[in-house]
Amino acid sequence: MKVVFHDDFYQDYTSDPASTKGRIEAIVEVIKPDVEFVGAKPASEAEIAAAHTDSHVDYVRRSGLFPISALAAGGAIQSARIGLDEPAFGLIRPPGHHASADSAWGFCYFNNMAVALLALRREGLIRQALVLDIDLHFGDGTLNILGDQQWVKIYNPSERSREKYIQEVAHLLSGVQVDMIGVSAGFDYHIDDWGGLLATEDYFSVGTLVSQAASACGAGYFAILEGGYNHDVLGQSVAALMDGFSS
Ligand SMILES: [Zn+2]
Repeated sequence: MKVVFHDDFYQDYTSDPASTKGRIEAIVEVIKPDVEFVGAKPASEAEIAAAHTDSHVDYVRRSGLFPISALAAGGAIQSARIGLDEPAFGLIRPPGHHASADSAWGFCYFNNMAVALLALRREGLIRQALVLDIDLHFGDGTLNILGDQQWVKIYNPSERSREKYIQEVAHLLSGVQVDMIGVSAGFDYHIDDWGGLLATEDYFSVGTLVSQAASACGAGYFAILEGGYNHDVLGQSVAALMDGFSS
Protein backbone atom coordinates (compact mmCIF):
# COMPACT_ATOMS: atom_id res chain seq x y z
CA MET A 1 0.00 0.00 0.00
CA LYS A 2 1.11 3.55 -0.67
CA VAL A 3 1.91 5.57 2.44
CA VAL A 4 2.28 9.32 2.11
CA PHE A 5 5.13 10.42 4.35
CA HIS A 6 7.95 12.92 4.78
CA ASP A 7 11.03 12.83 7.02
CA ASP A 8 9.93 16.20 8.45
CA PHE A 9 7.19 14.31 10.31
CA TYR A 10 9.94 12.95 12.58
CA GLN A 11 10.34 16.49 13.98
CA ASP A 12 9.05 17.03 17.50
CA TYR A 13 7.55 20.40 16.61
CA THR A 14 5.75 21.00 19.95
CA SER A 15 5.71 19.47 23.43
CA ASP A 16 2.36 17.67 22.94
CA PRO A 17 1.95 13.87 22.78
CA ALA A 18 1.17 13.86 19.03
CA SER A 19 4.60 15.37 18.45
CA THR A 20 6.56 13.14 20.82
CA LYS A 21 9.83 11.73 19.61
CA GLY A 22 9.59 8.05 18.73
CA ARG A 23 5.93 8.12 17.74
CA ILE A 24 6.40 8.20 13.98
CA GLU A 25 9.47 5.96 14.26
CA ALA A 26 7.31 3.35 16.03
CA ILE A 27 4.94 3.24 13.06
CA VAL A 28 7.60 3.33 10.33
CA GLU A 29 9.49 0.49 12.01
CA VAL A 30 6.49 -1.83 11.74
CA ILE A 31 5.07 -0.92 8.34
CA LYS A 32 8.31 -0.26 6.42
CA PRO A 33 8.77 -3.73 4.90
CA ASP A 34 5.26 -3.82 3.44
CA VAL A 35 4.57 -0.36 2.05
CA GLU A 36 5.66 2.03 -0.66
CA PHE A 37 6.42 5.51 0.71
CA VAL A 38 5.32 8.52 -1.35
CA GLY A 39 6.87 11.90 -0.50
CA ALA A 40 4.42 14.38 1.04
CA LYS A 41 4.20 17.87 -0.45
CA PRO A 42 2.73 20.89 1.35
CA ALA A 43 -0.84 22.00 0.69
CA SER A 44 -1.11 25.30 -1.16
CA GLU A 45 -2.38 28.43 0.58
CA ALA A 46 -5.57 28.20 -1.51
CA GLU A 47 -6.15 24.59 -0.46
CA ILE A 48 -5.76 25.54 3.21
CA ALA A 49 -7.92 28.66 2.76
CA ALA A 50 -10.78 26.45 1.53
CA ALA A 51 -11.09 25.12 5.10
CA HIS A 52 -9.66 27.90 7.30
CA THR A 53 -9.98 31.62 7.86
CA ASP A 54 -7.11 33.99 7.18
CA SER A 55 -6.86 34.80 10.89
CA HIS A 56 -6.44 31.11 11.76
CA VAL A 57 -3.78 30.66 9.08
CA ASP A 58 -2.00 33.73 10.50
CA TYR A 59 -2.19 32.25 13.99
CA VAL A 60 -0.59 29.00 12.79
CA ARG A 61 2.05 31.01 10.94
CA ARG A 62 2.84 33.10 14.03
CA SER A 63 3.20 29.96 16.12
CA GLY A 64 5.89 28.76 13.70
CA LEU A 65 3.90 25.67 12.80
CA PHE A 66 2.78 26.60 9.30
CA PRO A 67 5.38 24.52 7.40
CA ILE A 68 4.75 21.25 9.25
CA SER A 69 0.97 21.80 9.33
CA ALA A 70 0.81 22.61 5.61
CA LEU A 71 2.91 19.50 4.92
CA ALA A 72 0.47 17.35 6.90
CA ALA A 73 -2.51 18.86 5.07
CA GLY A 74 -0.79 18.33 1.73
CA GLY A 75 -0.06 14.73 2.67
CA ALA A 76 -3.76 14.26 3.38
CA ILE A 77 -4.68 15.62 -0.07
CA GLN A 78 -2.20 13.24 -1.70
CA SER A 79 -3.57 10.30 0.31
CA ALA A 80 -7.09 11.13 -0.82
CA ARG A 81 -5.95 11.52 -4.41
CA ILE A 82 -4.22 8.12 -4.38
CA GLY A 83 -7.32 6.78 -2.63
CA LEU A 84 -9.34 7.44 -5.78
CA ASP A 85 -7.55 4.49 -7.40
CA GLU A 86 -6.14 2.37 -4.57
CA PRO A 87 -6.19 2.40 -0.76
CA ALA A 88 -3.70 4.80 0.82
CA PHE A 89 -2.54 5.89 4.26
CA GLY A 90 -1.31 9.35 5.20
CA LEU A 91 1.38 8.97 7.87
CA ILE A 92 1.21 12.63 8.83
CA ARG A 93 1.33 14.90 11.85
CA PRO A 94 0.19 17.23 13.38
CA PRO A 95 -3.26 15.60 13.41
CA GLY A 96 -6.24 17.65 12.26
CA HIS A 97 -9.68 16.61 13.46
CA HIS A 98 -9.88 19.19 16.29
CA ALA A 99 -9.11 22.05 13.90
CA SER A 100 -12.13 24.20 13.01
CA ALA A 101 -12.20 26.95 10.39
CA ASP A 102 -11.10 29.68 12.80
CA SER A 103 -9.63 27.83 15.79
CA ALA A 104 -7.87 24.63 16.78
CA TRP A 105 -7.02 22.65 19.89
CA GLY A 106 -6.04 19.10 20.87
CA PHE A 107 -2.63 19.03 19.12
CA CYS A 108 -4.26 20.03 15.79
CA TYR A 109 -3.66 23.08 13.56
CA PHE A 110 -5.13 22.53 10.09
CA ASN A 111 -7.96 20.09 9.51
CA ASN A 112 -6.20 17.64 7.23
CA MET A 113 -9.35 15.65 6.39
CA ALA A 114 -11.41 18.74 5.54
CA VAL A 115 -8.60 20.24 3.43
CA ALA A 116 -8.26 16.93 1.53
CA LEU A 117 -11.95 16.40 0.83
CA LEU A 118 -12.55 20.04 -0.11
CA ALA A 119 -9.60 19.92 -2.53
CA LEU A 120 -10.88 16.80 -4.30
CA ARG A 121 -14.40 18.10 -4.36
CA ARG A 122 -13.29 21.44 -5.81
CA GLU A 123 -11.39 19.62 -8.52
CA GLY A 124 -14.54 17.67 -9.37
CA LEU A 125 -12.92 14.35 -8.41
CA ILE A 126 -15.56 13.45 -5.81
CA ARG A 127 -19.22 14.34 -5.35
CA GLN A 128 -20.19 12.54 -2.13
CA ALA A 129 -17.89 11.61 0.75
CA LEU A 130 -18.05 9.88 4.09
CA VAL A 131 -15.72 10.56 7.01
CA LEU A 132 -15.29 7.75 9.52
CA ASP A 133 -13.50 9.13 12.57
CA ILE A 134 -12.26 6.26 14.75
CA ASP A 135 -10.18 8.41 17.09
CA LEU A 136 -11.04 8.19 20.79
CA HIS A 137 -11.93 11.89 20.73
CA PHE A 138 -14.87 13.37 18.84
CA GLY A 139 -13.76 15.07 15.62
CA ASP A 140 -15.35 18.42 16.41
CA GLY A 141 -13.26 20.39 13.94
CA THR A 142 -14.24 18.20 10.99
CA LEU A 143 -17.90 18.54 11.96
CA ASN A 144 -17.56 22.32 12.35
CA ILE A 145 -16.05 22.69 8.88
CA LEU A 146 -17.96 20.06 6.90
CA GLY A 147 -21.04 19.34 9.02
CA ASP A 148 -23.41 21.60 7.10
CA GLN A 149 -22.26 20.36 3.68
CA GLN A 150 -24.87 18.08 2.15
CA TRP A 151 -22.24 16.08 0.28
CA VAL A 152 -20.42 14.80 3.37
CA LYS A 153 -21.53 12.33 6.02
CA ILE A 154 -19.46 12.35 9.22
CA TYR A 155 -19.49 9.48 11.68
CA ASN A 156 -17.78 9.18 15.06
CA PRO A 157 -18.61 5.71 16.42
CA SER A 158 -18.92 5.82 20.20
CA GLU A 159 -19.99 2.39 21.51
CA ARG A 160 -18.16 1.43 24.67
CA SER A 161 -17.70 -2.29 24.08
CA ARG A 162 -15.40 -3.79 21.46
CA GLU A 163 -18.07 -5.90 19.86
CA LYS A 164 -20.63 -3.13 19.72
CA TYR A 165 -18.08 -0.66 18.40
CA ILE A 166 -17.33 -2.86 15.40
CA GLN A 167 -21.06 -3.50 14.90
CA GLU A 168 -21.64 0.24 14.97
CA VAL A 169 -18.97 0.81 12.31
CA ALA A 170 -20.55 -1.94 10.17
CA HIS A 171 -23.97 -0.36 10.61
CA LEU A 172 -22.75 3.15 9.75
CA LEU A 173 -21.06 1.88 6.59
CA SER A 174 -23.83 -0.42 5.42
CA GLY A 175 -25.42 0.64 2.15
CA VAL A 176 -23.48 3.89 1.82
CA GLN A 177 -23.40 5.49 -1.62
CA VAL A 178 -20.42 7.82 -1.82
CA ASP A 179 -17.38 8.11 -4.03
CA MET A 180 -14.85 8.57 -1.24
CA ILE A 181 -14.47 7.21 2.30
CA GLY A 182 -11.90 9.04 4.40
CA VAL A 183 -10.88 7.50 7.72
CA SER A 184 -9.65 9.86 10.43
CA ALA A 185 -7.48 7.15 11.89
CA GLY A 186 -6.75 7.80 15.53
CA PHE A 187 -5.53 4.78 17.46
CA ASP A 188 -6.03 6.11 20.99
CA TYR A 189 -9.11 3.87 21.47
CA HIS A 190 -6.67 0.93 21.75
CA ILE A 191 -6.94 -1.20 24.88
CA ASP A 192 -3.38 -0.17 25.81
CA ASP A 193 -3.85 3.50 24.91
CA TRP A 194 -5.89 6.28 26.56
CA GLY A 195 -9.30 4.88 25.50
CA GLY A 196 -8.72 1.34 26.77
CA LEU A 197 -11.16 -0.34 24.38
CA LEU A 198 -10.10 -1.78 21.04
CA ALA A 199 -7.74 -4.67 20.36
CA THR A 200 -5.18 -4.45 17.57
CA GLU A 201 -7.25 -6.88 15.47
CA ASP A 202 -10.24 -4.54 15.71
CA TYR A 203 -8.37 -2.10 13.47
CA PHE A 204 -8.14 -4.91 10.94
CA SER A 205 -11.93 -5.31 11.21
CA VAL A 206 -12.48 -1.58 10.69
CA GLY A 207 -10.16 -1.61 7.66
CA THR A 208 -12.01 -4.58 6.19
CA LEU A 209 -15.41 -2.96 6.72
CA VAL A 210 -14.23 0.23 4.99
CA SER A 211 -12.75 -1.75 2.10
CA GLN A 212 -15.98 -3.76 1.68
CA ALA A 213 -18.23 -0.70 1.89
CA ALA A 214 -16.06 1.11 -0.66
CA SER A 215 -16.08 -1.78 -3.14
CA ALA A 216 -19.83 -2.17 -2.74
CA CYS A 217 -20.47 1.37 -4.00
CA GLY A 218 -17.38 1.88 -6.16
CA ALA A 219 -15.83 4.43 -3.80
CA GLY A 220 -12.20 5.21 -3.20
CA TYR A 221 -10.84 5.14 0.34
CA PHE A 222 -7.94 6.38 2.39
CA ALA A 223 -6.93 6.99 5.99
CA ILE A 224 -4.87 9.69 7.67
CA LEU A 225 -3.25 9.53 11.08
CA GLU A 226 -4.94 11.40 13.93
CA GLY A 227 -4.21 10.37 17.57
CA GLY A 228 -2.61 7.28 19.11
CA TYR A 229 -0.03 7.65 21.85
CA ASN A 230 1.22 4.28 23.04
CA HIS A 231 4.27 3.71 20.90
CA ASP A 232 4.38 0.04 21.89
CA VAL A 233 1.13 -0.77 20.08
CA LEU A 234 0.68 2.11 17.62
CA GLY A 235 2.65 0.57 14.75
CA GLN A 236 0.79 -2.74 14.94
CA SER A 237 -2.55 -0.92 15.00
CA VAL A 238 -1.67 1.07 11.88
CA ALA A 239 -0.48 -2.12 10.17
CA ALA A 240 -3.73 -3.89 11.14
CA LEU A 241 -5.86 -1.12 9.60
CA MET A 242 -3.78 -1.25 6.41
CA ASP A 243 -4.09 -5.06 6.26
CA GLY A 244 -7.84 -4.64 6.55
CA PHE A 245 -7.78 -2.05 3.77
CA SER A 246 -6.02 -4.56 1.50
CA SER A 247 -8.19 -7.54 2.43
ZN1 LIG B 1 -7.64 11.40 20.08
